Amino acid sequence: MGHEFHFRDKIPVAILGATGMVGQRFVELLGNHPWFQIVCLAASEKSAGKTYAEAANWLMASPLPTSIASMTLQSCQNLEPNRSFSLVFSSLDAACAGEIEADFVKNGYTVVTNARNHRMNQQVPLLIPEVNSAHLKLLDNQNLFGGNGKIVTNPNCSTIGLCLALKPLQDHFGLESVHATTMQAISGAGYPGVASLDILDNVIPHIMGEEAKMETEPLKILGELVANQIVSNPMKISAQCNRVAVSDGHMINVSVKLKQKPTKQEMIEAFQSFTSIAQELALPLAPKNPIHYFSEDQYPQPKVHRHLDKGMAVSIGRLRECPLFDYKFTLLSHNTIRGAAGGAVLNAELMVRLGYIRW
Ligand code: NAP
Repeated sequence: MGHEFHFRDKIPVAILGATGMVGQRFVELLGNHPWFQIVCLAASEKSAGKTYAEAANWLMASPLPTSIASMTLQSCQNLEPNRSFSLVFSSLDAACAGEIEADFVKNGYTVVTNARNHRMNQQVPLLIPEVNSAHLKLLDNQNLFGGNGKIVTNPNCSTIGLCLALKPLQDHFGLESVHATTMQAISGAGYPGVASLDILDNVIPHIMGEEAKMETEPLKILGELVANQIVSNPMKISAQCNRVAVSDGHMINVSVKLKQKPTKQEMIEAFQSFTSIAQELALPLAPKNPIHYFSEDQYPQPKVHRHLDKGMAVSIGRLRECPLFDYKFTLLSHNTIRGAAGGAVLNAELMVRLGYIRW
């Protein structure tokens, strides 16, 4: 456990969509990363040519490093083939991500992305290191977009938190059905996102495309890799997604029906003992414990717990019997850290340690 891993030189990386909500998290997490070094920042044509400080409305709590502030933004569409980096983190808007990321793969880059476009492609890992690291094997035969690059995707932000909670339940008791109702933060809608007049004093009971993602992505993530193909998990999921007036941190009320009904104590032990290859390898951004269980009735809360364990842990509480299914509980995870940039950086860290990223 916990052996350290050192490089002589850091791995140079680019961030596509660097000015947005997730892009800013990437800058924050990679600005001081022990293995990666930002050498290129890119966004749309309207930002290209400006310094990062001019183009991005910096909303992170940590100060913007001066070395990053003065970098000139490139246009994602016109990035000259640039061999000073081969690893690309993408937080591009889905409207343009599909084509731009495919171009990078075609040109031999390794793309680690948050965008939804390539998530459900049969050859593409939809990766959460603590849940389905075995799916990285798909990269051995991945052959996409006519090039020799590779692409790995991050699941949807709510899906990541949900799957981290479901994984130990699946392993210990088997999953039959899941019902999930989300309360999702406004930062999940990007910047500037939802108009203040729409969200203040309000709850919006619809997030475009979100319920379908939550009902399908976990079936792939919790599916089994057989002969280099993912066989979907047969469980049933029903999701209802709401936007609420919280800045960061998605909360989900979950009910689960299990194949074997455990005691409440066994459920708690399954959550608390959950660990994975990410913890074994002591990856820099891995949470010490992927799940923190709270017995206090009033926890978890977004304002209090979203930054737990570097914003990478899932907080679970309010565990009790469910009159319809077996158990119900509330979970919380940080949507732009665990649910986006942090999750993607952890994916890349695992890929480095398993030899899928070379430089
Ligand atoms: P955002 O704040 O709207 O940022 C979008 C980024 O894409 C900006 O850097 C923008 O650059 C760039 N962009 C837009 N159109 C472009 C174009 N035509 N060509 C090149 N660059 C373009 O969105 P976000 O919330 O950061 O989300 C980014 C991606 O991550 C999306 O695919 C989203 O679905 C996904 N995601 C978001 C979250 C979350 O919690 N926010 C969680 C998981 C996944 P300019 O500033 O130059 O316009």
